[in-house]
Amino acid sequence: MKSVVLTTPGSVHLTDLPRPTPGEGEVRLRVVLAGICSTDRHIFQGHFTVQLPRVLGHELVGSVAVGAGVPPTWVGQVCGVQPARFCGKCPPCRRGLPELCEQFACLGNTQDGGFAEYTLVRAEQLVPLGSLPPEVAVWLEPLACVLHALEVSAAATSQSVLVSGAGTLGKLMVMTLSATSQAQLAVVDPNPDKVQQALELGAQAGWVVPRSGPATEVGEQIRQWAADGLQTVIDTSGSPAAIERAIDWSGAGARIVLFGVSDPEARVTLSPTVILSKETQMRAVAGMTPTAFIQAEHLLRAGRVDPRRLAAGVVELSDVPQILAEGKLLNRGKVLIRPGGEGL
Ligand SMILES: [Zn+2]
Ligand SMILES: [Zn+2]
Repeated sequence: MKSVVLTTPGSVHLTDLPRPTPGEGEVRLRVVLAGICSTDRHIFQGHFTVQLPRVLGHELVGSVAVGAGVPPTWVGQVCGVQPARFCGKCPPCRRGLPELCEQFACLGNTQDGGFAEYTLVRAEQLVPLGSLPPEVAVWLEPLACVLHALEVSAAATSQSVLVSGAGTLGKLMVMTLSATSQAQLAVVDPNPDKVQQALELGAQAGWVVPRSGPATEVGEQIRQWAADGLQTVIDTSGSPAAIERAIDWSGAGARIVLFGVSDPEARVTLSPTVILSKETQMRAVAGMTPTAFIQAEHLLRAGRVDPRRLAAGVVELSDVPQILAEGKLLNRGKVLIRPGGEGL
């Protein structure tokens, strides 16, 4: 079967691999649709370490091909996939932080993933789609990550939320916030087109900011916009400048949530005096939780969030190595892969 395999950071190839054989409790899925995540690009760039060689891809929809883990009537059913597994027993799991599970397992990370014609999952990871279109269900995992960040940010009870960075997940965050919260919602991004798109998706205000530096004027306008003090900032960019501005712009008792992935060499300069004087709260989120995944399924099924307009296009497996290397298409939105495998 055709597979996209990362052999070393920066080196990814279309390779022929044998179709994987399901073990006890496992199912072979024929991949119908897979999404390229910014995490996949970070893995490709070596910002995240995974055991290599590895078939990438953790966002996918597939049809059940062969499985010891499901009744025969499941064969041919199209399912979404909960890509991550948590042990439930380690100290972080027991403390309610499953995303930090010491035995964390995930497709495209600790095991081969969805950038292939077929992949193996455990039966309990399947979400039968019913009437949910694959083009919507492929967003289950990214939306779950967004919902986890929103829960941590307490955005639901915030008066003003600034989404920093209007890439695909920043825009999904804006869409989700405008569908689920009453907060005043604004966005900043260095790219004017992305700011404009975020405004069309429900942000009430937006500003273009430079990639580096303090952006003092924008800060003044944001302070006027959030008259009672900016309460929540969710940074989807991972940019040190954006994080420094978030601390500077936010008001008393504000909560800043770090959601974007940074270069491992990145460093942020912060003033303990400023943080102390405002009692700024900072929290990072890594990935999603099982609860957020269930919420994502509900929101997508109810049609309250429809991320299909955030897709940049549908490509074939053979296009993926170049797309990961260039990054250009990924910058325009979610790239979906249709592997097109046939049979079981
Ligand atoms: Zn993802
Ligand atoms: Zn655990």
